[in-house]
Order: sequence, then C-alpha cells, then structure tokens
Amino acid sequence: MSKSERIGVVGGGLGGLASACTLAARGYDVVLFEKNPWLGGKAAVLTEGGYRFDMGPTILLMPSVLAKIFAEAGRDLKDELDLIPLDPQWRSFFDDGATLDLHADVAAMASTLDAFAPGGAASAGYRGFLDLSERLDDISRRYYFWRSIGSVRDMFDPSATFNLSTLGDLIAMRPWSTMGATIRSYARDPRVAQMLDHFTQYVGSAPDLSPTVLCGIARMQTGEGVWYPRGGTRAVADALVRLAGDLGVEFVVGASVDSIATDAEGRVEGVDLDDGRRIPLGAVVSNSDSVRTHRELLAGRPAASRFERRRRYEPACSGVVMYLGLDRRYEQLLHHNFVFSRDPHEEFDFIYRKGEPAPDPTCYLCAPAATDPDVAPEGGEALYVLVHTPYLRSHHDWDALYPAYRRTILDKLAKTAGMTDLESRIKVERRLTPQDIHDRYRVLDGAIYGLASHGRLNGAFKPANRSPDVPGLYLAGGAAHPGPGMPMVLMSGWIAADALDQDGVVERRGGAVSLDANSSAHTAVS
Ligand SMILES: Cc1cc2nc3c(=O)[nH]c(=O)nc-3n(C[C@H](O)[C@H](O)[C@H](O)COP(=O)(O)OP(=O)(O)OC[C@H]3O[C@@H](n4cnc5c(N)ncnc54)[C@H](O)[C@@H]3O)c2cc1C
Repeated sequence: MSKSERIGVVGGGLGGLASACTLAARGYDVVLFEKNPWLGGKAAVLTEGGYRFDMGPTILLMPSVLAKIFAEAGRDLKDELDLIPLDPQWRSFFDDGATLDLHADVAAMASTLDAFAPGGAASAGYRGFLDLSERLDDISRRYYFWRSIGSVRDMFDPSATFNLSTLGDLIAMRPWSTMGATIRSYARDPRVAQMLDHFTQYVGSAPDLSPTVLCGIARMQTGEGVWYPRGGTRAVADALVRLAGDLGVEFVVGASVDSIATDAEGRVEGVDLDDGRRIPLGAVVSNSDSVRTHRELLAGRPAASRFERRRRYEPACSGVVMYLGLDRRYEQLLHHNFVFSRDPHEEFDFIYRKGEPAPDPTCYLCAPAATDPDVAPEGGEALYVLVHTPYLRSHHDWDALYPAYRRTILDKLAKTAGMTDLESRIKVERRLTPQDIHDRYRVLDGAIYGLASHGRLNGAFKPANRSPDVPGLYLAGGAAHPGPGMPMVLMSGWIAADALDQDGVVERRGGAVSLDANSSAHTAVS
C-alpha cells in the first residue's frame, strides 16, 4: 500500500475534535470517524417536551484550554462561545441539614466557613489547603500538562532529580500520602472534608486511593472559575465541530472503526471500517478508550501485549443520570449542587472497593434554568441528577437495578435537599445507566472518566499520548494523558496532535490553514 498523507481520528468526542482541529489548523489533511450519528461523544444533548438537557458534562473548568485550541486556528474563544461565570460555584447539602456554598474568592470562602463552623479553624484550614493546592497546580502546569507523559520518568528529567527545587516539588506532592488524608490534615470539620473530597469525583476515583497531587484541582477550579456556556456544555462540542468544518476536516459519522491496520513493522497504515472498507492513513489519533483501542482495534498484535504488560488498567467509576423535566424550580438549588451522602467512607467503600451502588449516595444536581431559561418551559427546570456508581461488573443488570435505585435517589433528594414533591413535578423523565454509558460511548466497563487515578505515586499517570508501542498511533481522550474531564480531554487531543506534528510522520498538505471571518464550512458528512 502506498503511504497515505492523511491522518485519521477514531472517535468524535471532545478529545478527538480537539486533535482534529489542531492538526487541520497546522495544515494536515484530517478525516474523523465516529460510530454514533452525532459528534461530541459524551457531550451529547437530549431535547424533549420543551426541555433541553446536557447529557454528560455540565461543569466547565479551565476555559483557557479551549481557548488554546481555537487560538491554533487564529480564533478567539470569546467570539465562539458566550461563557457565563458561576459563583458561588457549588452548593453543598449535608446529611445534618446544613448547607455550604463554595466561593471562588478565598476571603469570601473564609468568611463563609467562619459562619459555618465558628472558631476560625475551618477557614484557616481551607486557606492552608488552597495554598497547597496552588503549589500542586503550579507543579502540574510545569511538569505534567501540554506534553505526552506516561509515567513519572517522563515527568522529571533524571539529571535534575537532585536539583533542590525539583526535590522540593516532589516533596510537595506528598507521595507517601493520599488526597483523602491530605484533605483531612487541613479540614477537621468532616463536612468540609467531604466537600473537598469531591474534587476526586471529577476523575471518578476514591479520595483515599488517589495521589495528593490531585488536590491541585481545587485551585484549577477556584483560580479560573466555573463556567456555563450559553446553550449548555453541548455548545462546546458544537463550536469545535464548526471549527473543524471550517478547517476542512472530513467527518464520517455512523462509521465504526473495527481495526487499526499496521504494516509488517507494526506501523500504522490505515483503519478498517465496519462496512468492510479499508481507509489508508499515514497516522491515527485514537479517541476511543485507550484500553479498548489496544484490546479491540489492535487485537492479537504484539503491541497490544506490550500495552497490557505495562500496568493494570482499572476503570474509573460509572454513574446513573436522571434527566427530569419539571414544572417547577427549587429555590434552594444553585446551578451546581452536591447533596452529600451520610458517610463518605461508606459511600466510597461501596463504589470503589465493594463494587456495588452506595446505599446512601451523593447526588450531583445541575439546575440550569435560572442561568439559561431556554432549558425548560417557563417556570420549569431541566433537572439533571448524577449519582456515581461502580464501573460495570458482570453481575450488574441495570435494567433490574434501576427502579429501586431511582427510589433511593428520590428519597435522598427529599430527605437531604428538601425536594419532597419532586416525583409529582416530573413531566419528562429519561435515564442513562452504566450499561448505556458503556454501549453509547464504547468505554471500558461503563467508566465515565476513563481510568481510575488510584495509586499514591502512579495514580496520576495514564497511557501517554504518543504510543510507545505502535509507530504512527497517538491517543487522545479521558483514558489517555492527562486524564478525564472536558479541559483534560481537550488538552489530551492537543498533545496527541502536537506530538504527531513534532514527529513529522506525515506531510502537511501545504501550510497551515488560515481562516477569515467569511470562511465557509466544507464538511463532508457521509
Ligand atoms: C454523565 C457524565 C457527567 C460528566 N460530567 C462532567 C463534568 O461536569 N465536567 C467535565 O469536565 N467532565 C464531565 N464528564 C466527563 C467528560 O464528559 C469526559 O471526560 C469527556 O467528554 C470525554 O471525552 P473523550 O474525548 O475522552 O471521549 P468520549 O466523549 O467518550 O468520545 C469518544 C467517542 O469515540 C467514539 N468511538 C469509540 N470507539 C470508536 C470506534 N471504534 N469507531 C468510531 N468511533 C468510536 C464514541 O462513539 C465516542 O463518541 C462527564 C461524563 C459523563 C458521562
């Protein structure tokens, strides 16, 4: 087969779209294959009966990452999306009836904590925690972000390990501790600790199994803020699809990639589609789950065995989502809310150790109607309820489990968030179970957030974006470096594209693409 100079992207999630945009902006010829009839992957939308629900992500952090993808094509994020800041960022409802709002501003948060837990210890502990978080955020930005990393060896230059400042950074990461233990060394009030624990739920992992460096997420959130794109988080996917179209990316939707073709040396030479076609390609970015890419798309190849031998791949948690179109709003809710479990240790033990749904779970609620009235008929609410569950085990039958768990969730919201009439106010009801997540997005065992971040030292590391096993293969998405969540998968897509570009494995089609305001979409959807 003669060498193709096209690049194929397998999967049109946010990571795949970010890669496609970056590569096309740098002048490459890109074709993207998506098995579903829509682009955006988990950032999907559901509309029914006058209600509009974001089906997956709802909390947008670090818009600077998205801005960098648009900047690759000379575009300004401000012209592409109307981003609305949300502050307070969350409201927490606790089992004892107390509520606590998380503010971006440290001084505002400190005075809220002084009122919540008088005496000064809670606010002092929070300030100390945020100082550590800022240090860890800075370390992540210096060593971990924006480059292909698969292990601690890729992160630190061994010749600099004995440099005092690098040693200081290593010590600040507290490799002997965990995120859960670190939080508790600052937050003595168990409710404040429970609130801070929930930053690990952004990566679907247990606080007492996750590395301390993840405490940096708190600063990433308070520093850059929490944002709502007008039109919903779906607007992020739509904006990227528009950009990719303008840059000449070809979309092939409704096309599943069955296999990545490799030549005698194990180098990528194309993909095989489920309709039997072979598409010659010079390189591939896989936005499909990294483990399933190796187990299914590279099945039987020596590269797949090398990938398996490198480490054990544990899926992150899964979840149940209820989409409830209501004929009323609840004034006690902010845009983002956590209705916490009675006992985080019991809850995380069920989800992450026993592998069973928690009997008294934490419910995350998104109530966007006050920010964006278009999501529901007047006076109504498009309520989104997410409860984390274990990743799928062979005995989990969610069609059988769901009715009783739905009752558990509704009872929890009545008891802890005062939503006693919720069931009677439902006009539209849909659900997403771990099995649905598994089937719709072709992820590992229904995992929402790729691979678990478990392990004091290695928990933060995911498979590197530049495959060490298959020349011409690059990985983008929540199960690749730097991990899950919208900003991280967008960064992952950018890193995969940048690594491919640096490697020079394919020729550009003749210079970077420049866009002007009048450029038209030339998207070929087949
Ligand atoms: C319920 C839920 C709530 C979440 N909440 C948040 C949140 O509030 N904030 C946040 O930042 N993140 C959140 N996330 C996580 C975030 O949505 C994901 O990390 C991110 O969207 C994943 O993007 P991705 O690029 O990894 O791939 P995905 O969105 O998983 O897309 C991968 C795409 O590849 C396609 N594909 C796979 N294999 C093939 C193949 N062989 N051939 C063709 N196509 C293929 C799939 O169909 C899919 O469309 C949430 C996720 C879920 C499900």
